[in-house]
Amino acid sequence: MTLEVSTAQIEAVAEQVQVHKFGGSSLADAYCYRRVARIVTEYAGASDLVVVSAAGDTTNRILAIIDAKEEGDETDDFGMAEVLLKQLEKYQHGLITDLLSGDILTSVMEASKQDFSRWWNWLAGGEEIKNRPELLSYGELWSARLLAALLQQQGIRADYIDARSFLVADDAPEPLIRVEISREGLLNRIAPHAGTRFIVTGFICSDPNGRSLILGRNGSDYSATLVGSLIDSKQVTIWKDVAGVYSADPRKVERVVSLPILDWREAEELARLGSPVLHPRTFQPVNRERMVIAVRSSLKVENQQTRIGQYEDTEPTGKVLTALADVVLFRVDLRDAKLIEAFEELDLTPLISWNEIAQHQAYYAYHQNHQDYMTAWLEQVDSKNNASQLTGYAMLALVGNRIQETEQFGVFKQEVSEQALRRLALTPDNNAVVAILEQKLDNRLLNRIHSQLFNHRRSLGVLVVGRGNIGSAWLSLYRRLRERINEQMDVRIIGILNSTQMWLDYNGLDLTDWQDQFERLARPYEMSQLIPELPNAPYDELVMLDLTDAIAVAQLYPSFFANGLHIISANKRAGASNESQYSEIRTIQQEYQREWYYNTTVGAGLPLNYALNDLRNSGDTIRSISGIFSGTMSWLFENFNSEVNFSDLVRDAKQRGLTEPDPREDLSCQDIIRKLLILAREIGLRLDWKDIDVDSLLPEHLAEIPLDEFMQRLPEIDEGMQDLYADAQKTGKVPRLLASFAVQDDDTVRARVGIEYIPEGDMLANLIPGENIFVIYTDWYHEMPLVISGPGAGKEVTAGGVQSDLNQLLSRLAKAK
Ligand code: ADP
Ligand code: ASP
Ligand code: MG
Repeated sequence: MTLEVSTAQIEAVAEQVQVHKFGGSSLADAYCYRRVARIVTEYAGASDLVVVSAAGDTTNRILAIIDAKEEGDETDDFGMAEVLLKQLEKYQHGLITDLLSGDILTSVMEASKQDFSRWWNWLAGGEEIKNRPELLSYGELWSARLLAALLQQQGIRADYIDARSFLVADDAPEPLIRVEISREGLLNRIAPHAGTRFIVTGFICSDPNGRSLILGRNGSDYSATLVGSLIDSKQVTIWKDVAGVYSADPRKVERVVSLPILDWREAEELARLGSPVLHPRTFQPVNRERMVIAVRSSLKVENQQTRIGQYEDTEPTGKVLTALADVVLFRVDLRDAKLIEAFEELDLTPLISWNEIAQHQAYYAYHQNHQDYMTAWLEQVDSKNNASQLTGYAMLALVGNRIQETEQFGVFKQEVSEQALRRLALTPDNNAVVAILEQKLDNRLLNRIHSQLFNHRRSLGVLVVGRGNIGSAWLSLYRRLRERINEQMDVRIIGILNSTQMWLDYNGLDLTDWQDQFERLARPYEMSQLIPELPNAPYDELVMLDLTDAIAVAQLYPSFFANGLHIISANKRAGASNESQYSEIRTIQQEYQREWYYNTTVGAGLPLNYALNDLRNSGDTIRSISGIFSGTMSWLFENFNSEVNFSDLVRDAKQRGLTEPDPREDLSCQDIIRKLLILAREIGLRLDWKDIDVDSLLPEHLAEIPLDEFMQRLPEIDEGMQDLYADAQKTGKVPRLLASFAVQDDDTVRARVGIEYIPEGDMLANLIPGENIFVIYTDWYHEMPLVISGPGAGKEVTAGGVQSDLNQLLSRLAKAK
């Protein structure tokens, strides 16, 4: 190749031409392409070079087609490969027709159709496309051609360049670029065309014989700095879907901090430790004295950006928390000196390595992506089988120059030491501290550690289950109190769920018109499948508000706790489940150290369990509690006398919404038994359903019939109820449905729910219909009881009680650090 361009032209290129790079996510659909075209016109100079990746997930799609074809070669069934290829063709043609029109559309479509006919031919067994890199190259070729055409259509001088026409490399696991010949080829192509924006394919190059090669997954960042260094450009701008490099991956961590500047060594270390934000080879070709790399957002151009350059003299601080979910440890016998030497000389440096002298072992930690490469490499060098592979590890690292001197170093060490830490080490250049953990990583953990390192405000994600009366009332209360609630922690509602539909958004729901939004945005879901996903919600802490009456939800409490959620229940089903379920819930709750509040399950908003806990914490002992625990029963009996039929009262109460949908739930005293169990367990007593002596108001013969029929036959209970009333009157008393439990002298518990006759003047006989009353005897309150009474139901008081639980949780969590 001859150099036809003058030195002056070369110098002009170096001074004037900058490089821009757009990744696949910036080119995912027609809308993205238009945005990129606008950026290229407004933010790039008239002669700038633009490096592009394949649109969206095209590279993954191509790989899937190749795999399906290979499988087809074995099974003789190419159905899958055909389906995938058709989808890819549709996607690519869709982009073209959405973006182009007229002659340009015709010519680009024509070229694309030719490409796809080669693909179909290849799939049918024709040998036209020779190797995998050649197939992969199409992805970048299509995006470069399309973007150039879109610019041309908008009247901008633009063209595209297939990088294989100038970028030459020798084949190797990481292709070795032949710099001189590549530079010459590129300058030849562009220097004569000042004023044309060239779109260059990222990711690909060719060997000296013209065979396609690829630069490794996500290699387009590298292409961009390569191209930049070939023309000695001053700046390469990498446009991403994120506005620069942040203190952690913004897709996983909330409230990340943006980094205006990053030193080369920090950026390089971050890439080496596997962060997807920049490819590890990006920095290799860079002239660090001259070039600056800017990372900025193609989605929000106005946002800030990160400039990577020579900033090593700035005050050392921990900059980025980065994580790898899957790490493989290679354990090597230290006595095999040859093998150790091979590891030490290997080009691919481990995340970290260390020796355990006493066991004669060395460890080298690698990213899971390198496992295949390392396995193949070991087969060649490890003749004696002295190396073994251990999986099930994860990595957390904090990157920053002179990390050891930073304040965050100590915080990081402290945080990881509370995990299943296998090894903590500084990297040799002191640019990062790396922790290898023998456990799974989830975003909750990342968030927690991140907020310890970078923000002092912690966050709580709230999942609201149940959107009935209480759910709605609590949501409006929350909206009213939001500012106050957010004082202690950053609290956001991340989901509203009913039994079949959920509206979930980890960024936090906008609660204006939430009912309408729920109708529009809620999707079907399975609770049991959702729960294991929740640890990925980017919050330090998560809480589930169970505002249902559902057994199905209560049964999942162990799973909620095990996945890291705290629980606030208005639902009685878990607190009153049978002894074995209950103790399972408590065991898991303790094991995972989660909080569980259920203040509203007894007496709705009444401050009952605060009083009980306060007494107990101050040294008192509760001896007995009795009273009227059910608002429904209170209403029925306070209105009952010899003049009215009990059945009419039940009907009336049902109509007013004072009973359960099936009033038998109330009449059989189920609801009261639940409350009694919860109260007794709250003060540390062991009590189960079978231990409670119950006089149900529901005759057995009415228990199993359909609800309609029951409502019709309700008067069958009237006679018995009238007899009861008359019987009580004989001694000047009235019947009331009481619940009680008392600790006996031998420490056993006597518990009972049933009718008792109360003197007409007694306070238990003179409640406001619906009122609850709890009469508490303790060591200190033994002559006169402590009495708590008031409304025991109602959506507002219950919502308030739920809020009171949330406040308690917040102060507990805020204190916990
Ligand atoms: P491209 O569009 O260039 O292919 P990638 O998707 O490969 O971009 O890389 C960008 C992604 O890197 C972001 O979407 C983000 O989720 C992830 N990422 C991980 N760590 C960080 C970090 N510290 N700062 C910014 N982004 C990060
Ligand atoms: N398209 C290639 C890939 O997906 C290169 C890149 O995106 O940087 O790996
Ligand atoms: Mg990428």
